[in-house]
Amino acid sequence: MNTGLQLYNTLTRKKELFEPLNAPHVGMYVCGPTVYSDVHLGNCRTFISFDLIFRYLKYSGYKVRYVRNITDAGHLEGDRDEGDDKFAKRAKLEQLEPMEIVQKYTLGFHDVLRMFNTLPPSIEPTATGHIIEQIEMIKEIMNNGYAYEANGTIYFDVEKYSKTYNYTILTNRNLEDMLANTRELGGQDEKRGRLDFALWIKAKPETLMRWASPWGEGFPGWHIECSAMSAKYLGAEFDIHGGGMDLAATHHTNEIAQSEACSHKQPAKYWMHTNMLTVNGTRMSKSAGNGFLPEQLFTGDHDLLEKGFSPMTVKFFMLQAHYRSTLDFSNEALDASEKGFKRLMNALSLLDKLSPSESSDFEIDPIAEHCVKAMNDDFNSPVVIAELFEASRIINTVHDGKGKISVVELDKLKKLMQDFVYDIFGLKDEESANIELNSVLDMVIDLRKTAKENKDYATSDKIRLGLQSMGIQLKDSKDGTTWNKA
Ligand code: AMP
Ligand code: ZN
Repeated sequence: MNTGLQLYNTLTRKKELFEPLNAPHVGMYVCGPTVYSDVHLGNCRTFISFDLIFRYLKYSGYKVRYVRNITDAGHLEGDRDEGDDKFAKRAKLEQLEPMEIVQKYTLGFHDVLRMFNTLPPSIEPTATGHIIEQIEMIKEIMNNGYAYEANGTIYFDVEKYSKTYNYTILTNRNLEDMLANTRELGGQDEKRGRLDFALWIKAKPETLMRWASPWGEGFPGWHIECSAMSAKYLGAEFDIHGGGMDLAATHHTNEIAQSEACSHKQPAKYWMHTNMLTVNGTRMSKSAGNGFLPEQLFTGDHDLLEKGFSPMTVKFFMLQAHYRSTLDFSNEALDASEKGFKRLMNALSLLDKLSPSESSDFEIDPIAEHCVKAMNDDFNSPVVIAELFEASRIINTVHDGKGKISVVELDKLKKLMQDFVYDIFGLKDEESANIELNSVLDMVIDLRKTAKENKDYATSDKIRLGLQSMGIQLKDSKDGTTWNKA
C-alpha cells in the first residue's frame, strides 16, 4: 500500500501525510448535487476532482467507501434559511411534482457523470430517504442543549455551541466579525442569534414536501442531511469530507457544529475543498447566468462557445489544472486541451504496435516514479500530464524507428499508461469507441435488412425498438438506413 500520500487539509491549512483512521479502509463523504436543475460544468469539475481522488486512493491500495449524497429536499434559495424551496419553485415552473423534479435531474446528473467516465460512489444516499435519521440527530442535539424550538422550527444555537467549541474552526474567521457582518434578514426574528441556522423547518400550508416530526409537520434544514448520512454510513469520525470551496464557510461549518453538538466529535480528519471553475474570472453558477450545461459544451450550442468539445477533451482540460487552483474557461484553453488529448491518444494507439528490441534507449521507472510522486503531492494531476507527454514522446520516437525499447521497458510503459491514463484519470479513447459503435451498428442494420427481406418483421421491429430504447434512432430511406444518437 502507498503510504506517502500528502493532502491539503482545509482544517489545518496545510498539507499533511494521509493516515487513515482505520487503514486499509478509507471513508470519504462528498456533498453531492442539489437536484432541482441540470448540473452545470462547474459542478462537474468538483465531482471529476473527487473522482480522481477516489480512483487514486483505490489505486494506492485503500478500500474506499465513497459516499456522495443527493440533496433532494430542504434546500431553500438563500443560505440563511430564507427564500423559496428550490424544488417547490422548480416544480411549479415545470408543472411537475417535486419528486418528479428530483427524479428528472438525478437521472440527468448520472448521465452527465457517465459521459465524463466517473466511477459511481459506493453509496449515494438521498435526504428524503433519511428523514428519520435526521430527526433522531436533531433530537440528540436538542437533548444536548444546542438547539431550540420556535413555532415548530428548530434552530441550532451557535452562541451556546461557541462557548465549548470553535464554530469557525474550518475557515479560521473571526466570530465577532462574522456576527457584525451578518445581515438581519426577514424571517429571522425567531432566531435567538444571528448565526443560528435551521435544523428543521415548519411546513407552510402550501409546502408539498413535508414529513411528520415531534415538532409538527415540516422538512429538514439543508445542512443536517450530510451530518446524519455521513454518520450513518461512515461513523461519527471518518477520514475525508469533501466538496466545493464555496461550501466551507456555511454548509461545512454547520455540519461540523451539528456533529459535535450530537456526538462531541469533529466528524472528518481531513477536509478537502476543490476550487471553482470560472468564466472570465467569475465563478460559474446558475445565478450568474454563465453556468452552461455539459451538453451545450459538447454540441457547441452556446454564445460563449466557438465550437463543441468532446467529454474527454473537457475532462482532460480539467485535469490539466490542480484541483485547488481556479480554472478559467476559454475556447483557446479548450482548443489546446483538445490538441493535447489527441496527441496522447494518438501515441496510445501506437503502443500496441511497437516492436521491442534487445536493448533500450529509454527507462520508464523514473517517469512512473515522477507520476506517483506528483499524485502523492496532493493529487497534482498537471504534473502527471507533463510526464505522460514525455511517455508519448518515447512511443512516437520508437514508432518512427528513431529509438529502441526493450520488452521489459515496453511492458512498464504499457502499465504506466494503463494506470495513469485509464485507471487513475479515467480517460478513454472516444474515437475508437465511435469506430467500434459504427461497425457494430453497420452489422445490426445489415441483420435487420436481411430480416425484412425475409419478411421477418418481428425481428426487424425488435432491432429497431431495441436500438431506440438505447437512444439510437434508425432512419430508412431509399438509399438505405442511417442512424443517429439522441
Ligand atoms: P450544488 O448542486 O449547488 O449543491 O453544488 C454541487 C457541488 O458543485 C458543490 O460541491 C459545489 O461546491 C460545487 N460547485 C458549484 N459551483 C462550482 C463551480 N463554479 N466550480 C466548481 N465547483 C462548483
Ligand atoms: Zn453536504
